[in-house]
Amino acid sequence: MTTKRLPFDKAQIEAMCVKYPTPFHLYDERGLREQARQLNAAFAWCPGFKEYFALKATPNPVILSLLREESCGADCSSLAELVLTERVGLRGAEIMFTSNNTAGVEYRKARELEALINLDDLEHLPFLAAEAGLPEVLSFRYNPGPLRVGNAIIGTPVEAKFGLTRPQLFEGYRAARARGVRRFGLHTMVASNELNPQYIVETATMLFELAVELATALDIQLEFINLGGGIGIPYRPDQQAMDLQALSRGVEQAYRTILGANGLGHVRLFMECGRVITGPHGCLIARVRHLKQTYKRYVGLDATMADLMRPGMYGAYHHLTVLGKTGEPETETYDVTGSLCENNDKFAIDRPLPAIDVGDLVAIHDTGAHGHAMGFNYNGKLRSAELLLREDGRVELIRRAETLDDYFATLRFPGA
Ligand SMILES: *Cc1c(COP(=O)(O)O)cnc(C)c1O
Repeated sequence: MTTKRLPFDKAQIEAMCVKYPTPFHLYDERGLREQARQLNAAFAWCPGFKEYFALKATPNPVILSLLREESCGADCSSLAELVLTERVGLRGAEIMFTSNNTAGVEYRKARELEALINLDDLEHLPFLAAEAGLPEVLSFRYNPGPLRVGNAIIGTPVEAKFGLTRPQLFEGYRAARARGVRRFGLHTMVASNELNPQYIVETATMLFELAVELATALDIQLEFINLGGGIGIPYRPDQQAMDLQALSRGVEQAYRTILGANGLGHVRLFMECGRVITGPHGCLIARVRHLKQTYKRYVGLDATMADLMRPGMYGAYHHLTVLGKTGEPETETYDVTGSLCENNDKFAIDRPLPAIDVGDLVAIHDTGAHGHAMGFNYNGKLRSAELLLREDGRVELIRRAETLDDYFATLRFPGA
């Protein structure tokens, strides 16, 4: 069980709304920092451990900057993410570039920033060489295929478009070395929203065994192993956060018995988590605009799935709190909707809630990762603001809401 707490009360939110109208995503600085510290502390046994925050989860410069203060780097996968990272001031080994189907301009930017480049395909080796020149250090993304099962969000590895097969991986290291690459890393990402630490321990075990094979078969000494992201969060109150200590203990044991025992006890471990870092420390605040009753009862919010795609896209559960009504019995059952002309524009279906009134404030929990970031403009919906609740209680606007002028900025009207 997880108690779905919020780091603010209704009065604080009403005060914010005077200046920043709903809807908005609100992030909690203290929670974000503590989460990053917990992950880093759990892996303190591993020299050189580094978390590269998966920027796609929450691509906001202020958030990246405060995570950097907690020793995190950035995991980028696009030109825009590289440029954002550059503008926050990160460079070199603070940036991991894990892309796929990559454009030449993206590799050129990654090389310019001296980012660690993680190749998604064998063919990208000559492509990178031609587009931007090969770096001294390269990493490959492994797709274990039938050796691992996936889950609903990431799919099974055999169906996944990412990474190299096992024979391709061996070929990749050989070819990269022949082209003059001197230092190597290994990466995989086969989990998403995984709450069982054992799954990630198994992934680590698989990679450690592979590292030993690479050393034996090819005399390739890996410098780092990137376990990817994919640590889940308890979206539902009946779920439990992953025990990071248990994860760390399991990985440490595999590290010692596989890498350490084979003379590879110096390999650095990296992770590139997004969700677990920011997910629980953001929520979407919206106000009830209309109530409707037909065959079902509807609560219409001023937010839409343009602000939070996950329920509409994956049927994902997000917990809802009606601010100021937390003590009240959940006697009613509602579908909680946005205003898009799409029937999957629902934040919750058949959700037991206290009796709701027009004007109530609703907090949609756990939107700190893959929330605002997935926003879009379909139906002319404008993307919301992002606010940061500072540790001292101040509230800071870290992204303004879009305006109609933003929406029309790229259009040409006839005669204009
Ligand atoms: C999305 C992604 C991540 C982050 O995943 P989370 O589930 O947010 O931890 C890490 N690495 C890669 C390559 C990704 O695509």
